[in-house]
Amino acid sequence: MAFFDKITAAAKSAKESANTAIEVGKLNMKIKNENDSIEQFKGQIGDLLWAQYQEGEVTDPRIIALCESIAAANANIEELQQQIEVLKAPSAPVEEEEEPVEEEPQPVLERHCTQCGAVVSEESKFCSNCGAQL
Ligand SMILES: [Zn+2]
Repeated sequence: MAFFDKITAAAKSAKESANTAIEVGKLNMKIKNENDSIEQFKGQIGDLLWAQYQEGEVTDPRIIALCESIAAANANIEELQQQIEVLKAPSAPVEEEEEPVEEEPQPVLERHCTQCGAVVSEESKFCSNCGAQL
């Protein structure tokens, strides 16, 4: 009999702990919902303060500093969106950087003396090396 009692007690406690887990889970879910509500209300407070800041009604420097951070972030978003616009516009006249036409370095046609092969200037009539007539 004692053995059987033990079994039922164990089964009962197992069932109880399962129920307990479910109950705790339900309560945790409720706590989570309340926390979500708090976050929502905080967000609404933030929206109100942001609107007041834009109206110039905020005097608390801590709130002003935070609102300035929001303003800076908004400016960044605007700039990033402009970058997206630029990327998205396929036929946008993207100012192609005109490749500077690199002038082929004119091969210096060196004039050589037909006799000795020395380099001679274009206009000289005689080789400065061997004196041959060019
Ligand atoms: Zn020569």
